[in-house]
Amino acid sequence: MIDMKEQLRELPKMTHILERDSIKKWTNRLSQLYVKKHINYVLEAMRDKILNTEEPVDTSVNIIEKKVIQLLETKTTPSLCKVINATGTALHTNLGRALLDEKIFEEMKNISTRYNNLEYQLDYGQRGSRYSHVENILTDITGAEAALVVNNNAAAVMLLLTATVPGSEVLVSRGELVEIGGSFRIPDVIESVGATLKEVGATNKTHIRDYEEAITEATGALLRVHTSNYRIVGFSQTPDDNEIISLARRYNIPAFNDLGSGLLIDLQSLGLPYEPIISEVIKAGYDVVSFSGDKLLGGPQAGILVGKRKYIDKLKKHPLLRALRVDKLTISALESVLSRYLQPDTVFKSIPLLKILNQSEEILKEKAKLLSREINNLNIGYHAKVVQGYSQVGGGAYPGVTLSTSVVEVKHDHYSDYELERWLRLSEGHIITRVSNECVQFDVRTLLKGDIQTIVNVLYEIAK
Ligand SMILES: *Cc1c(COP(=O)(O)O)cnc(C)c1O
Repeated sequence: MIDMKEQLRELPKMTHILERDSIKKWTNRLSQLYVKKHINYVLEAMRDKILNTEEPVDTSVNIIEKKVIQLLETKTTPSLCKVINATGTALHTNLGRALLDEKIFEEMKNISTRYNNLEYQLDYGQRGSRYSHVENILTDITGAEAALVVNNNAAAVMLLLTATVPGSEVLVSRGELVEIGGSFRIPDVIESVGATLKEVGATNKTHIRDYEEAITEATGALLRVHTSNYRIVGFSQTPDDNEIISLARRYNIPAFNDLGSGLLIDLQSLGLPYEPIISEVIKAGYDVVSFSGDKLLGGPQAGILVGKRKYIDKLKKHPLLRALRVDKLTISALESVLSRYLQPDTVFKSIPLLKILNQSEEILKEKAKLLSREINNLNIGYHAKVVQGYSQVGGGAYPGVTLSTSVVEVKHDHYSDYELERWLRLSEGHIITRVSNECVQFDVRTLLKGDIQTIVNVLYEIAK
């Protein structure tokens, strides 16, 4: 029988723990109150354990010290950290979507570490609007009359509907009742702004007459939603943009398009299928088009609305805009990304997302061979080989479309594929891989400068 009371008495005292050198290092860095709180937490957990187990509990000061330090280390490590994306998915929704390059951060730094003209008109010495900074470049690139930027595309759609159609009916094809990432469903969004969804057509086929028959006095808008993350194939049909727009004009109701993916230039040269480009959709005549800043556009998280001045002005005046507004960092990043689209010759080099998509099969194969060779050269039980594979664009863009790539498949003599996947993920490199074929797979498409070396180092640490 172990003596619980004796064990409780043996627990080191707070003052004793605070005197330990390793703990003093922490009280020098952080407030004593904060460190004490965590010591108390560990002592409390020890007391609980003593009271609830039959086994003797190690109450030495060394153990307690170790636990306190572990806890403080976890608490003071940033939760948001960089990872290595070895999945090949260029716009990975869980891994931060579009990448920004360093030059953009230089500009963001210049703006945000100094005062700036975020809401000030230098020409007049008067108050200005934060939304004015990217409006001209957006209208230049898209051909729209006016533009507005908000927090993300979900916010853009909400603002658009809130400001234009509350209390009225919004017509949407049954084939376009999209869900984006769980919490954003077009039917729910329409209901949430106090409008009524009126579904038209069937899931696979919607005709222009379906829209026409649904129009009544109560109709507030025709809303087209780009099926950016799925495709309806086979016996299917939807009216083209011209039909939708001429119908809307005839009945004098606005036509909106939630395009989502935000493609500014044609990517068919990369072997990708046709996808509507913002300027084309604007040219077709939609009153407002909305899209994301951090999908195919390759910029910061933002929601962009472009279209007729009459509607954009209405959005600018709506009180909801204040709740959805973008920060100077977003505006600065977006302005620099957009300016790269003014130089179409270099855009595949200057925008990281496009660069990732635009790698040739030869380049990818070379990268994969290098990684594979380095892993085999470790000579510690790994077997790596290069295989042909397929990467996805991701971010809900180009559903079902794959790009040919090179993948390094790795096995180990003693460790399973799932063990390797887990250790790579939990390592300091936080390497995210796929498991397939009883191997961990590294798709080299999304590996960035320095990543190959980190992967090799981590694999070495795992099995040395
Ligand atoms: C991605 C997407 C959205 C949501 O955009 P976020 O920028 O993620 O808020 C809305 N509609 C469509 C069609 C989309 O593809």
